[in-house]
Parts: sequence; C-alpha cells; structure tokens
Amino acid sequence: MIIGKINKNEPTIRFSLDLNCIHCGKKVPGGMLTSEQYYGTYSFLLEVDDFKKKYLCGICRDKKRTGKIEK
Ligand SMILES: [Zn+2]
Repeated sequence: MIIGKINKNEPTIRFSLDLNCIHCGKKVPGGMLTSEQYYGTYSFLLEVDDFKKKYLCGICRDKKRTGKIEK
C-alpha cells in the first residue's frame, strides 16, 4: 500500500504499520511504501492517520463492496 505519491525513479522507503480493521477489529500487518522525501513529514503523518482511521481488512472490504456493511 502506498502513502502519498511516488514519482518515477524517486527513492522509496518501506515501513510497516499495525493496522486494525475499523469494522471487525482484526489486526493486519501493513506493508507500506512511500517516497523518501515524503516520509516523516507532517502531511505524511496526517495521511497515515487518516489511512488507519479508514482501514478495512480484506473481508470487510468485500462486504462493503457488496453492500453488506455501511460505512
Ligand atoms: Zn474487518
């Protein structure tokens, strides 16, 4: 999963996040990728925060797509 935008040939940083599905609470290790320049910036942190707040696990994402859960 990518945070922010990565331009072509831009150095990247891999990091991982402890993600919890906002619907079922399941813990999912998140392998993330971002650009070296963006990593650790204020907007980066905001985006990560936002990402965590909206995170759904694969199962819940499927349910959402098929309309079985709202949110
Ligand atoms: Zn879930």
